[in-house]
Amino acid sequence: LNPGDFKRSKVLENFLRVVGKNIFDVQIESNKINLDKNGNKVSYVVNRNINFTNRCEVNCSFCAFSRSKKREKTLAMEEVSKKVENAKDGGATEICLQGGINPELDIDYYLKLLREINSKYDIHIHAFSPQEILHMSEGSVEKTLEKLKSAGLGSMPGTAAEILDDRIRKKICPNKLTSDQWETVISKAHKLGISTTATMMYGHLESWEERLIHLKKIKKIQEKHSGFTEFIPLPFLPGNNELGNITGSRRKGLEDLLVISLARIVLEGSIDNIQGSWVKLGKNMVSKSLYFGANDIGGTLMEENISSSTGKATRGYMRKEEMEKLIKNAGKVPVQRKTIY
Ligand code: SF4
Repeated sequence: LNPGDFKRSKVLENFLRVVGKNIFDVQIESNKINLDKNGNKVSYVVNRNINFTNRCEVNCSFCAFSRSKKREKTLAMEEVSKKVENAKDGGATEICLQGGINPELDIDYYLKLLREINSKYDIHIHAFSPQEILHMSEGSVEKTLEKLKSAGLGSMPGTAAEILDDRIRKKICPNKLTSDQWETVISKAHKLGISTTATMMYGHLESWEERLIHLKKIKKIQEKHSGFTEFIPLPFLPGNNELGNITGSRRKGLEDLLVISLARIVLEGSIDNIQGSWVKLGKNMVSKSLYFGANDIGGTLMEENISSSTGKATRGYMRKEEMEKLIKNAGKVPVQRKTIY
């Protein structure tokens, strides 16, 4: 990292203007908050992603994963079961189920999916983004969440958040749920005792101001229900998607680290766990993120399709031993965690 180079960068100038602190103070402060809260411990989870359908009709401009009906791949229940079995054999404590918004899948499909897994395997099911919840809800989101919970839903990924500001959402994902709808689904889940993560997809058309707005919204939701287990900043990967043609190649490096630091500072006293995503950031940057406020590096994944579809992500699977080695090499102490910490 060469701070001299970044001084000239507009991104960094804007950071200073909006945040009002220089990058060194921000790094020092975020690192201190993290050390006070989590010491030198860095966690990870052994999990497997299962993307049960890639058919989607929402057409988000940043998506490289979704396919039309002609090219869809929707897994049969037996295929899902096989993947869960394989995950269990590999020591996974969690499976993460997420898919596209497939008009042919209704609530019965999702419930069957949960029951099938829950009846056969002792594993935590982390599943369905707020967008998927809204898609499968027939009227009442609460009732839908209650049904899912009793069918075995353990927790939910707080994905589909992107930037919680409708000016940006209208540009990058006009058919997706609004920021208010995202908050409503998440809040209802929290009220029912279903924990979720919180995410932010950054690095496209949004400004530092909008990133701050997003973080403050997350903090406000957490103050009401305390249902977020962690915050995960996810950089936009501009490969094989329409939005990437507008933004050009990805800005990376110090900016990614500062987003993590900013999250740690804004969410102090509210969300204790900040994740550096190794799939999105790469192994080198994720190591550095541990000194910018991150105390978690996510899951082993076993299979990753969403980020990999862009051709820009670190491909799919980091074994438990490798996770531990990465953490130790960064001078930290690895801790295997469960999904909800
Ligand atoms: S991001 Fe999700 S909702 Fe949007 S197009 Fe891709 S799969 Fe569909």
